[in-house]
Amino acid sequence: MSVVDFDLISKQANIDPAAIELLKKSNQEHYANLNIKCGDQVIQADTYVVFHSIARGPAKGGIRIAEDVSLEETRRLAELMTYKCALTKLPFGGGKSGIKLNPKTLSPEARKMIFAQYVSNFGTFLKDGTYVPAPDMNTGPADMATIYGLTRVKESVTGKPPRIGGLQGRDEATGYGVACIVKRAVDGILKQDIKGVTVAVQGFGNVGKWTARLLHQAGAKIVALSDETGAVYMDEGLPVDELADVRLLSETSLPAMDSNDIMTMPVDVFIPAAINGVITGDIATKTKARLIVEAANDPTTADADKVLFDRGICVLPDILANAGGVIGSYVEWKQGRSGSVITKSETYHTIESHLVGAYESVVTLAHHTGISNRLAAQVIAVNEVADSMRDLGWI
Ligand code: NAD
Repeated sequence: MSVVDFDLISKQANIDPAAIELLKKSNQEHYANLNIKCGDQVIQADTYVVFHSIARGPAKGGIRIAEDVSLEETRRLAELMTYKCALTKLPFGGGKSGIKLNPKTLSPEARKMIFAQYVSNFGTFLKDGTYVPAPDMNTGPADMATIYGLTRVKESVTGKPPRIGGLQGRDEATGYGVACIVKRAVDGILKQDIKGVTVAVQGFGNVGKWTARLLHQAGAKIVALSDETGAVYMDEGLPVDELADVRLLSETSLPAMDSNDIMTMPVDVFIPAAINGVITGDIATKTKARLIVEAANDPTTADADKVLFDRGICVLPDILANAGGVIGSYVEWKQGRSGSVITKSETYHTIESHLVGAYESVVTLAHHTGISNRLAAQVIAVNEVADSMRDLGWI
């Protein structure tokens, strides 16, 4: 099922029905059973690589390793990438890879072997520029380095370590973008100063950690953080800068709270930055945040979205809020193709300018039409992809 409701979108914009039919299906779906023998261990992993759309450029989207990966989830995430790239005016389509494995069972050597298998199965798409992967949940720069080591094409993968063609600032790019969006929305929508605004962040991986850190540096009060091992809470604000090297929150001696409560506690801003589908209809009826900024992909169910809209809670959707990562990837891809070296401040500037443009167009459309920010973002993005398809003579 599509991540967008084309009937609702069509009520807002005159989208060519032929474009909608194309967008309802993936452009390409590939499967491989990656299998390796590492020491005594035989590992196999169902692996899906989906290109939802290549109308606006190479399919762009990360590689996820998780036990609950499925084709359906990979499809949805690839489709989100199509709209994210279109909304932020990047010359990319949407793609995603899902490797169905428990990441904790992988030794560093097994991990390298899995990625070598991945390249052996799908490397053609990476080398010919059809698909440009990047890190996602449970993958990181070292894995992207393994991929690049095998393709030897700089722009075939983004999220590489800076020494081998990666980008200064790519690590924090998604969190930097989320923090930019939060700051703008706190000012423009909540009409509050960022200093002292209370924030709860679910997820303490790449995105959650950077988002919390950058908002803390801007003066926001990060009162709660959670990860899969637990949650911590301090009314007066957590010492986020001291947590830079913390891997798991359960390892800290900070005051603990029930991690289920992080989504319903009284804060100004709640930031889901972990997994999809966590804000359910039931949670949406109980949430007390005034603003929800979706750092994770697809964290809000369709039921919950309706409840939040009816309750007047402002939601800034994933395709806008977490697009800083793919904008950073775009800068890295451009750097790889041109051979130039791009500085961190140039990267930040590019992220901010693409995001601010998208943010303004979304909130303006939502304000003028009375629709949700999510629907507004989808209308703009789908329109953009449909126009690209028309330019290409596909419809
Ligand atoms: P990560 O693997 O670095 O971190 C995930 C975090 O979520 C970990 O702290 C983990 O403990 C926590 N977590 C897992 N299950 C949880 C649960 N039930 N409750 C609370 N915490 C839980 O992943 P990441 O790269 O930070 O990605 C997080 C989300 O952001 C994903 O939805 C991903 O698709 C999205 N995203 C990531 C990027 C990126 O550049 N990394 C870009 C755009 C979107």
